[in-house]
Amino acid sequence: MAYVIAEPCIGVKDTACVNVCPVDCIHPRQDESDFANSPQLYIDPDTCIDCGACVPECPVSAIFPLEDVPDQWHQYIEMNADAYKLSPDEYLAKWNTRGMKE
Ligand code: SF4
Repeated sequence: MAYVIAEPCIGVKDTACVNVCPVDCIHPRQDESDFANSPQLYIDPDTCIDCGACVPECPVSAIFPLEDVPDQWHQYIEMNADAYKLSPDEYLAKWNTRGMKE
């Protein structure tokens, strides 16, 4: 199962993790059009191979194996998956109103 990027990434988007991911499953990259507007980076759970290489690269310790996501950040499991399943507008509509309250 995948790794998950949680709240500490918001507003940081360091991208060191992007550069070490062997399967390019952390987005948006800096050269992608949605980078500026994305609040954080997300891991595609269907592509992540669970290697853990991204974890030590994160300067704000935002990346967790699924089973270790802290309770207060559990919504980020769904948020990372939704970032790949929903359109940007659908994602913002869902999580701007709901995610921050959970
Ligand atoms: Fe990429 Fe490995 Fe991190 Fe998954 S655990 S996002 S495959 S670097």
